[in-house]
Amino acid sequence: MNGDGDKTRFNTAAKPNWCLGCGNFGIQSALKKALLEFDFEPHQVVMTSGIGCSSKIPHWINVYGLHGLHGRPLPIAAGLKLGNHDLVVIAEGGDGDGFSEGMNHFVQACRRNIDLTYIVHNNGVFSLTTGQTSATGKQGFASSSTPDGSIESPVNPVALAITAGASFVARGFSGDMNQLRDLIVAAIKHRGFAFIDVLQVCVTYNPAKSYKWYKDRVYKLEDENHNPADRDKAMTLALSFDEDRLATGIFYQGGQNPYEDSLPQLKKGPLVSHQVDNIDISNLMAELI
Ligand code: SF4
Repeated sequence: MNGDGDKTRFNTAAKPNWCLGCGNFGIQSALKKALLEFDFEPHQVVMTSGIGCSSKIPHWINVYGLHGLHGRPLPIAAGLKLGNHDLVVIAEGGDGDGFSEGMNHFVQACRRNIDLTYIVHNNGVFSLTTGQTSATGKQGFASSSTPDGSIESPVNPVALAITAGASFVARGFSGDMNQLRDLIVAAIKHRGFAFIDVLQVCVTYNPAKSYKWYKDRVYKLEDENHNPADRDKAMTLALSFDEDRLATGIFYQGGQNPYEDSLPQLKKGPLVSHQVDNIDISNLMAELI
C-alpha cells in the first residue's frame, strides 16, 4: 500500500452490512474521500470506535482500527495519540455511544484538546439495539424505550462541545458527502480536538428524518458569512437549534495548542521512537509484583 495515487488504498475487501440507504454509507465515503486528500498511507491512520451500527466502520476502511467498548472510543484514541503523536487518530461512534455511555469522555476530550478527530453519526436512536431513544432523541419521539414519547430534553452536541472547550466544532449531513469530506479534511488538519456532529439518516429506526426531510432543512454556514473564529456567535447559533433550519459547516475553530504540545515527555518525539534500553524498571516491578 502506498500514498502515491492509489485511490483504492483505503478500501477493504469486506463490505458494510448496514441497511440499504443507511446514512453511514455517506459518512464512510466522505471519510475515505477526505483521507485521499492527504498523502497518508493506511498504516499512518488509526480509527477507534465504540458500539453501535456506526461503530463498525473501522472494519470497512483500510487503516488500523480498534472496535472497542460502548462509549469508549475517545480514551482509546487519546492513549494512541499520546503513545505516537505522529499518527492520524480518528474516533467514531453514534450519538448513543458518545452522549449516553460516553458523555464524560466527550466532555473531558473537549477540554483536554488532544489532537484527535471525533466524528459522531447522530441519528437520535440506539439503532444497533433496535431503535431505543438516545440522548439526542427529541422530546415526544416514540420508540420501544419511550412508547408514549420521550419526556427528556435532548443533548445539544454542538453547544456542549463549545461550552466544554473544544477547539473545532462542526456539523455535517450524511446526505452531503462533499461538504462532509471538506469538514473532515479541515478537522484532520486542525491541531487539537476536532468534533463533527453528523446528522445521519437511519432509514430503519428513525425513518421520519429521511434524506428529503434533512435536505429541506439544512443550510451552510459559509453561505451566511459565518466567522468560525467568533465563539460567541457560534454559541448563539448552536443554542438556537431549530429542527426546521439546521446549520451545517464549521461553527467554531480556535487556536489553542493541543495537549501533547505541553507534555515534556513528548518533546523528543513520539514515545514509540524513544530509546528505552537504559531504563531500569526493576524497582517498579518489585513494588508491583
Ligand atoms: Fe443504519 Fe439504522 Fe440500519 Fe443501523 S439500523 S444500519 S443506523 S439504517
